[in-house]
Amino acid sequence: MSSINNEENNISLLATHYKSVIDLLGEDASREGLLDTPERVAKAMTFLTKGYNENPEEILRKALFKEDYSQMVIVKDIDFYSLCEHHMLPFWGKAHVAYIPNGYITGLSKIPRVVEVFARRLQVQERLTTQIKDCIQKTLNPMGVMVVIEAQHMCMQMRGVQKQNSTTTTSDFTGVFNTAKTREEFINLIR
Ligand SMILES: [Zn+2]
Repeated sequence: MSSINNEENNISLLATHYKSVIDLLGEDASREGLLDTPERVAKAMTFLTKGYNENPEEILRKALFKEDYSQMVIVKDIDFYSLCEHHMLPFWGKAHVAYIPNGYITGLSKIPRVVEVFARRLQVQERLTTQIKDCIQKTLNPMGVMVVIEAQHMCMQMRGVQKQNSTTTTSDFTGVFNTAKTREEFINLIR
């Protein structure tokens, strides 16, 4: 109950700030079309950053299963939407995750949830990649984990250099993925 009240308080406080922002940008926040905008933006931004209130390690720990399977498990084409921490503009794309179990697996739907929790925070693509990798390594303790993220950044496309169609790719890995052959197997399977 009190957390709901806190969220309502946060949204109304955020809304007053967004009202100032709109005025400072040269608009008139009291114009009819903008009357509800500060509250709408406050709600949208609260949703887009809801990952701060969720614990991704707990999501994995609650769905750990003992299993002898020791081949590569791949979850590919995980859609995500995030906000770059430098401009608070969207970046979005696909995450691909692979791990090789070491006695434990997790529910397949949990990997996209982990991606979602980290994506719903202010991020840089590099850290998002590493945090997903670290979270899986720490909780599942697999033989190795690898994360590849391909994304487009609004802050590149809308402003400055306007590199309209460029995609940024990041990757990070642990354990057996230090072997080039293992990485290649994963990369071939996500192409
Ligand atoms: Zn940016």
